[in-house]
Amino acid sequence: MNQNDILFDRACKTSPGGVNSPVRAFRSVGGTPRFIKRAKDAYFWDENDQRYIDYIGSWGPIIVGHAHPVVVKAVQDAAANGLGFGTPTRAEVDMAELLCDMLPGLEQVRLVSSGTEATMSAIRLARGFTGRDLLVKFEGCYHGHSDSLLVKAGSGLLTLGNPSSSGVPVAVSKDTLVLPYNDVDALETLFKEKGNELAAIILEPIAGNMNFVRATPEFMQALRDLCTQYGAVLIIDEVMTGFRVGPQCAQGVYGVTADITTLGKVIGGGMPVAAFGGRADIMAHMAPLGGVYQAGTLSGNPVAVAAGMATLNIVRQDGFYENLRAKTATMLAGFTAAAQAAGVPFSTEMEGGMFGLFFSESAPKSFAEVMASRVDLFPAFFHAMLDEGVYLSPSAFEAGFMSAAHTDDDIAATIEAAKKAFVKIADKV
Ligand SMILES: *Cc1c(COP(=O)(O)O)cnc(C)c1O
Repeated sequence: MNQNDILFDRACKTSPGGVNSPVRAFRSVGGTPRFIKRAKDAYFWDENDQRYIDYIGSWGPIIVGHAHPVVVKAVQDAAANGLGFGTPTRAEVDMAELLCDMLPGLEQVRLVSSGTEATMSAIRLARGFTGRDLLVKFEGCYHGHSDSLLVKAGSGLLTLGNPSSSGVPVAVSKDTLVLPYNDVDALETLFKEKGNELAAIILEPIAGNMNFVRATPEFMQALRDLCTQYGAVLIIDEVMTGFRVGPQCAQGVYGVTADITTLGKVIGGGMPVAAFGGRADIMAHMAPLGGVYQAGTLSGNPVAVAAGMATLNIVRQDGFYENLRAKTATMLAGFTAAAQAAGVPFSTEMEGGMFGLFFSESAPKSFAEVMASRVDLFPAFFHAMLDEGVYLSPSAFEAGFMSAAHTDDDIAATIEAAKKAFVKIADKV
């Protein structure tokens, strides 16, 4: 009996869609999601004991590989001393110091438990700090599922073909303005009209929730300059890119510093840790110092923080990102050659350990270009790879993630799988 099918049947009876987060449900690729029972290094095994080379990495956090012994030991040691106290711990101080040390521009930081909380709180802070209400986001960017951010968003909303959620009051979404990504003219026009009313602009510097679209350097610089000129808070959402694309996150790649940065995914190493932080004069508006309220029973949880600290201490080692980048580049070069040989339109994008695969001749630079690519080819490609034991994100609109645990052999096996997969889908082109 196929255990995945049995479990999915059971799951669908007691959970909506059988999952606890929508993209996991395989709705856009068809078939039954795999139920994972254990993982190690670059692999996980489903309930049928089928092994997969994993390129989801828990949607980014597993940058050092699954069940890394140092991370597991740190978690076990922390757990043995108690699972949580609701009072301050040394580990939280260590983590805050480490984050501020690693990311220039982070003068103070507050730990939370999810990226959604980090972005939601960052926006409240920006509004409290500026005394303004209007928020600007960009089409195809996803910043978690708080009400004001579920407008023309990416990730699961795009996967399910509905970029805005029902259940969000107009009273809330009317203060969220949406602009096209990478459009400097539209940005300048908006600032001329409403610059003095804008509380914050939030963006993904590399938009991994519409596959992989990087901001242009001109766009990043324009954002920085206009926010400074008009006194709006620039929130760079690095929940996905933070310590994933490089040692100083995407801000190091662009040489642009946020007023407030949001972090998540990698900084928890697979456990629920996220954070927001930045300029000390802005952070001083947070309770208990200032009037912007935010709190969390599990914020800074010692077991979760232990996993995050252990992970960050590994990525800080010399050569970590060079190694990760080389692995990613090798794999993508193999994919590109395989696609060419099969006559499939294909392009790739990458930064550090994060990548995008596109069924288009060149990599998209906007949401519109992503939508214009042959996303219809993705489900067949995804399943062909899965049949070969390679697990990609089950959506054409999600980035992929390399880990330090992927070996040369794993990458060679992945390229071999891609060769077969491209041949399988060639007749659909
Ligand atoms: C994943 C993600 C979030 C939301 O984080 P959760 O931990 O899923 O709430 C926010 N912003 C970006 C850019 C993300 O990739």
